[in-house]
Amino acid sequence: MDYFNYENDCLHAEQVALSTIADEVGTPCYVYSRATVERHWHAFNDAFGEHPHRICYAVKANGNLAVLDILSRLGSGFDIVSAGELRRVLAAGGAAGETIFSGVGKQPWEIREALEAGINSFNIESQGELQKIREIAAETGEVARISVRINPDIDPMTHPYISTGLRENKFGLSADKALEIYQLASQDKNIHISGVACHIGSQLTELAPYRDALDKILRFTRQLEEKGIHVEHIDFGGGLGVRYHNEAPPSPAEYCGALLEQLELFGKRYPVTIEPGRAIMANAGILLTRVHYLKHSAESNFCVVDAAMNDLIRPALYQAYQEIIEVNRSSGSTATAYDIVGPVCESSDFLGKGRRLPVREGDLLAIRTVGAYGAVMSSNYNARPRPAEVMVDGSRFHVVRQRESLESLYAGESRLPD
Ligand SMILES: *Cc1c(COP(=O)(O)O)cnc(C)c1O
Repeated sequence: MDYFNYENDCLHAEQVALSTIADEVGTPCYVYSRATVERHWHAFNDAFGEHPHRICYAVKANGNLAVLDILSRLGSGFDIVSAGELRRVLAAGGAAGETIFSGVGKQPWEIREALEAGINSFNIESQGELQKIREIAAETGEVARISVRINPDIDPMTHPYISTGLRENKFGLSADKALEIYQLASQDKNIHISGVACHIGSQLTELAPYRDALDKILRFTRQLEEKGIHVEHIDFGGGLGVRYHNEAPPSPAEYCGALLEQLELFGKRYPVTIEPGRAIMANAGILLTRVHYLKHSAESNFCVVDAAMNDLIRPALYQAYQEIIEVNRSSGSTATAYDIVGPVCESSDFLGKGRRLPVREGDLLAIRTVGAYGAVMSSNYNARPRPAEVMVDGSRFHVVRQRESLESLYAGESRLPD
């Protein structure tokens, strides 16, 4: 559910006409809806009810300060993968004590910075990382809270749609290896064991793999308890999918319900942490773009817009489908199938293929479901400034990231000395 709807044939974000934003801010431009962000966060939070839980929004999905500000005002925690993301959380008013540091490649300076800020915990992915964290904690006289990320290694034959997420070995640790690390950690006075973590992939549209993963995690946790290692919470990671096209992912309520049910079956009401990114932000954003040229050839019709793969890379990178709709529905032209392409000099620069749209030059289009993994993955390829970002809040809107200036694109560069 989102708050991008037509009123009098004109697409609105909440109560603001997107054509107004295009006129005042220009295109291309990301537009987010505060009410949608809040609705999604509450959907997760309400689903857990009285069960002790923490929702740690995955900052990598969209780290704009306004997004983080909205979430921290709701009392959200955060999941970060770099010190840069930690700085964003802090700059937006978020609490380090509600923030979890994930990722396979934490550097010593990042670990130090997170410890000094009072990070809630580190989700550890290797023995070397534990070693590094205990060294730094000992140096600074702090106690680092840690969880180990388990790779639950679900049989990909059962769930082929997530097999790519499981075959790779970069993420997480086998249960055996993790057990060794927990035993080492439990003997260290600068380490406090906080929980057990996992994250099995992204854009999951079924509950079965979650149930399987959780089952393995709970069995592993029982093993830990048997060895006298106490666990304060279980972190299930993120990954709940959204509807881009025809997908029908479970709702946050169904997803959280399944997690709670599984805990109940196991007979241990562990506090739960989840790290949703996409499910909170994807449907809360659109990319607003203007049609500049319609180009017809014997084989294809091209609709050339001012947004491109540098602004939104998902179609080029993953052949991802993004719904594209008209901002004003009253154009009256007949619909033609177009490839929607941008100005970047790459054949992979497309935003959608074979879309039937009644467009004319000068019309506005909205690319839907781009609030997550949209702006954050943008680049300056072809010396294109990153687009402006706008947050709509009821009948008002705020520019929450200025469009980059051309000068800023080479501000850190220099010519050679004479
Ligand atoms: C990417 C990531 C998430 C968020 O994934 P979504 O699919 O956006 O929900 C959560 N936790 C970890 C460790 C991640 O790497």
